[in-house]
Amino acid sequence: MSELKDKVALITGASRGIGRACALALAARGARIAVNYSRSPELAEQVVRDIEAQGGKAVALGADVSKPEQVDQLFDALMGQYGRLDVLVNNAGITRDGLLVRMKLEDWQQVIDLNLTGVFLCLKAASKIMLKQRSGRIVNISSTSGLAGNPGQANYSAAKAGILGLTRTAARELASRGITVNAVAPGFIATDMTGGLNLEPILAQIPLRRVGKPEEVAGAVCFLCADPAAAYITGQILQVDGGLVIA
Ligand code: NAP
Repeated sequence: MSELKDKVALITGASRGIGRACALALAARGARIAVNYSRSPELAEQVVRDIEAQGGKAVALGADVSKPEQVDQLFDALMGQYGRLDVLVNNAGITRDGLLVRMKLEDWQQVIDLNLTGVFLCLKAASKIMLKQRSGRIVNISSTSGLAGNPGQANYSAAKAGILGLTRTAARELASRGITVNAVAPGFIATDMTGGLNLEPILAQIPLRRVGKPEEVAGAVCFLCADPAAAYITGQILQVDGGLVIA
């Protein structure tokens, strides 16, 4: 499949988990990939090798996307490498769970800084490039926690709900220049992020009775980047949650 041939895709937090799956899936559709990472350079280089092994092109670019100056450097490096940007997947995210009454301000702030401000910073930097190109696809990774809330995740669900407002506003601002902005809201997906959780009691709440795979989130991301399949979709939230949250 080469529907994204000659396109360039940046995926934040692509050294592991959902971001890695998105990088591999977009590469399989022909896109040249920028694999952003923060603290796992070896894993990011392995993702690059995995993409090259399947015949694709990729580069690993380190940056903490919660830091404005590092985001500037990331986009400079990206443009130096590829000279354009067609797809941005805002995927980098962390959890610092704790009940509201015990949550430290630091844990609140760290999650907001990366999961919400990081999305804003990359969205803004990507928009400048895409506005000039008069085309682009942006997919923000939210969460069902941002839709329904989740005990112990006041910081995380606030950030993930914030992403939805950001997505809808950016979609309205950028549509006239041929740029779509959508969000994907995963439920429970088997990655390092959920590795420490006892998922057994959660399965009963999931109509499909299993956790999701990173590749299943990547499939939704690829759909939203597909042309013409998703060209007329913007400002939307696509849940990939096995039916966990059905409105
Ligand atoms: P993960 O396995 O923990 O991977 C997180 C990724 O984010 C890693 O590649 C990590 O890179 C990167 N990252 C962390 N801090 C970063 C920073 N400051 N700057 C740039 N990259 C950074 O997580 P995941 O489960 O794949 O989650 C990916 C996204 O999906 C997150 O936004 C998460 O909130 C969302 N999500 C996950 C689930 C789930 O059940 N897993 C459900 C809903 C939503 P380094 O290792 O290089 O630091």
